[in-house]
Amino acid sequence: MYANNCIISTAIILTTIVMCVQTLDNDGKPLRGVTIVSPPFVMKSRDNQFEGFTIDLLKEIAKILKFEYTLYPSPDDRYGATDSKGKPSGMIQELFMRRAEFAIADLTIGEIRQRYIDYSEPFLDLDLSILINKKNIGNITSFEDLANQTRIRYGTIREGETYRSMSMSSDPTIIRINNYIYSNAFNLVNSREEGVQNTLNTEYAFIQESVANEYAADQNCELTIIHDKKNYYSRQYAIGLQKGSPFKPEFDRAIKQLKSDGTVDKLKRRYWKTKCLSGAVTAKLDIITTISLIASALISYILFN
Ligand code: GLU
Repeated sequence: MYANNCIISTAIILTTIVMCVQTLDNDGKPLRGVTIVSPPFVMKSRDNQFEGFTIDLLKEIAKILKFEYTLYPSPDDRYGATDSKGKPSGMIQELFMRRAEFAIADLTIGEIRQRYIDYSEPFLDLDLSILINKKNIGNITSFEDLANQTRIRYGTIREGETYRSMSMSSDPTIIRINNYIYSNAFNLVNSREEGVQNTLNTEYAFIQESVANEYAADQNCELTIIHDKKNYYSRQYAIGLQKGSPFKPEFDRAIKQLKSDGTVDKLKRRYWKTKCLSGAVTAKLDIITTISLIASALISYILFN
């Protein structure tokens, strides 16, 4: 019994020691990370620093694993796809060519990408939705409705996982949507911001990942979201790593910890604020206040005259 207890306590002590020294070592050099500007995941501050949801997450990971890092933007400004010869682009290319040790952004886990890179433990779940201006919505309530009409143009991000997954889909609606986008390629956008601007200013609907649409609709109250009821695209964001990266176990451990201790949820609440909802409530309150002021003025007028 005593012997058993001793073995157990020694094992606990050893595990604790191993866990304490499990920081990330890159021969004393900072890790090189590639990223892409995409609010609210990655944004540029006034003093030209990267900031945002995934940058905060990276800071928390680096705190746990005690490593330094540098960040540079995706040289071609793309997330990453592969051309007909199988050559990758964007952040996938940077990891594949071993110029970056990790990629931090709203980077989606993708089947084809996994031939070129590894991923950490995922940190966010998402699906697909349609961002549309309230004045353009008409009778469009689903992906089918969008595919069945020609009034509103629609598109997605060029060289990203959404467009790639659509081109591989066997669903009849997504095939039609993909055919339309493919033959009207001017509807493809280079960034989330460009897609949101098109949606705000033209007869355009933007098909993109749900969490990004939720943020865009939070920021621009004239926009609204049409959800994907058929679950066409169920994906996750994770940190991209080089194939066979020695850092994967540490990244996985840190992300698991940040998910289970509520840090990821806390960071998410920091950036997704439902501004429009509170705007609507404030507007309603303002109307009520105005009406009551007028009413009390009228009553006093009647009473005192
Ligand atoms: N998150 C996507 C990616 O990693 C980019 C955006 C999109 O395709 O909707 O490629």
